[in-house]
Amino acid sequence: MRENEMVQTPSNPDVVVVGAGFAGLYMLHRLRDAGFTAMAFERATGVGGTWYWNRYPGARCDVESMQYSYGFDEAMQQEWHWSERFAGQPEILRYANWVADRLDLRRDIRFETSVTSAEWDEAACLWTVRTDRGDKLRVRYLVMATGCLSAARLPEIEGIADFRGNTYHTGQWPHEPVDFTGQRVAVIGTGSSGIQAIPVIAEQAAQLTVFQRTPNFSIPTHNQPMDTEYENLWKSDYSGRRERARGMRTGILHDLNDKGALEVEEAERRAEYERRWERGGTAFMVAFNDLVTNAAANDTAAEFVRAKISATVRDPQLAELLAPKDHPIGTKRICADSGYYETFNRPNVALVDLRATPIQRIVPEGVLLSDETLRPVDSIIYATGFDAMTGALTAINPRGVGGLPLTEVWAEGPKTYLGLCTVGFPNMFIITGPGSPSVLTNMIVSIEQHVDWIVDCMAWMRRHGAVRLEAEATAQERWMEHNNEVARRTLYPRAGSWYMGANVQGKPRVFMPYIGGVAAYRQACDNAAKDSYSGFLLQMDRAAAQ
Ligand code: FAD
Ligand code: NAP
Repeated sequence: MRENEMVQTPSNPDVVVVGAGFAGLYMLHRLRDAGFTAMAFERATGVGGTWYWNRYPGARCDVESMQYSYGFDEAMQQEWHWSERFAGQPEILRYANWVADRLDLRRDIRFETSVTSAEWDEAACLWTVRTDRGDKLRVRYLVMATGCLSAARLPEIEGIADFRGNTYHTGQWPHEPVDFTGQRVAVIGTGSSGIQAIPVIAEQAAQLTVFQRTPNFSIPTHNQPMDTEYENLWKSDYSGRRERARGMRTGILHDLNDKGALEVEEAERRAEYERRWERGGTAFMVAFNDLVTNAAANDTAAEFVRAKISATVRDPQLAELLAPKDHPIGTKRICADSGYYETFNRPNVALVDLRATPIQRIVPEGVLLSDETLRPVDSIIYATGFDAMTGALTAINPRGVGGLPLTEVWAEGPKTYLGLCTVGFPNMFIITGPGSPSVLTNMIVSIEQHVDWIVDCMAWMRRHGAVRLEAEATAQERWMEHNNEVARRTLYPRAGSWYMGANVQGKPRVFMPYIGGVAAYRQACDNAAKDSYSGFLLQMDRAAAQ
């Protein structure tokens, strides 16, 4: 396409926002309120990000809907009604659309447009941003609202393109309904997406074969229609509850327990696990205060879940294969399901243990295993996850000071100051970037905190006549050291998880999210801001001040 210079409206806004998921939407709203002009580019045809792309059967949130929603506007949170305790993807997508309409955000979003490059112009202190439609914009600020889990990843399995049947990825699911009735279906991958999709697909397909490399821990959600009393309880003090949630480690208002798992007698421990299992959801992981820091404590929770699996799955051999043993519970993102383990009691469901017989290749008829057995199927679903946290950023591969590409600067793993900015990339902000709590939290809480901080920072710069802000190398180093140190205090680095980059061949193994908790993190961000953005280098240009 011929380059279409300056076609954007308004011409050369102050800010380009990449992405129109929950982060991009709130960013646009706040920027507008603060008097900045902004343009968002979104690859999809609509808003919603994660909830636009992940339309696979069974997709739903694992943070309760009353909490997995914006908290910045009292009228909006009072008005919206969630129909289920854990909303499904269609409802969350409707919510994102409702927000976009209500705040009239679409007029500043260019859909079906990917940002393909961004280059820093040091002399002008501007970013030059280009899209696949030929747009070229020169803007002061670049905001990456590109998502932590938006770069869907097909596995490195040979022959994927040879398959004769239909191929799907959970993270790029078609918009039209997919009917598996009468089909032999393969699901490859048993992370959160696979675990949500498998029970629903099993009900439709003639035969479902699950290809499992690593079993995962999953807690039942016991999802149910929204209880009006519960909804009213939340709405009677929504802002107060949101405020309390912001003070929690995960940004989720959970029923915490301040005891360690080994401080109590076995009977009390079991009763606590049982109570949480019955209540359902990921609050299981805060049953005791040391489950992610003390291996022996963690074992008690892991053992409880393994016992649940063996009590649920009738075939003992199958139960054994489904029981995770290679990582402490919770150190890979804990899954939340609706009847996952029960699904393996169905006569039309089979499990292939890829540890025993790995996939040799995909062939036109199906999946060929290392022992030459062919599993013929009509459809293959890849529930194989994402190039998490960095994939969408390195795909754009912005070039910062001196033309250095992000992929080079992050060759040994992502480095940021506060997860917001990275040395060498002035005036570029990342929402829920590596080095921030992001994926370990209720993401909407983290998104709101980042957006508020970034817009406040831009407003401060405008007031003080600053035209350039860049993370300081020593501040970044200290922040990364602190990140690593808090991660080392936990069991997380023991798992080969996507948090560690372990799911992508060749990706450096570093623990990417900040695990010090939302409250401590907020404090660190606020302290930097209060201290006139300590840890950042600022360049003033009084003439440019508005
Ligand atoms: P996204 O929603 O990923 O949006 C980013 C957008 O940027 C995408 O629409 C993408 O198309 C666009 N984009 C990226 N690169 C470009 C480019 N170069 N040009 C143009 N556009 C681009 N979190 C929770 O807290 N609770 C949950 O229950 C939960 N459930 C989840 C379930 C699934 C299936 C998945 C995959 C994730 C889930 N998450 C959950 C995490 C979820 O990603 C966040 O909660 C949140 O939706 C992220 O919003 P975002 O706007 O930051 O990113
Ligand atoms: P994931 O957790 O990365 O799981 C990917 C699965 O694919 C793993 O089981 C992995 O096995 C398997 N896999 C990858 N490559 C493979 C290969 N070559 N051969 C065989 N198996 C392979 O991805 P996800 O399930 O999409 O979830 C990603 C994240 O999105 C979650 O952790 C969560 O944060 C979010 N999410 C949340 C929900 C929710 O409940 N609200 C739902 C979906 C997603 P290995 O473990 O052996 O690598």
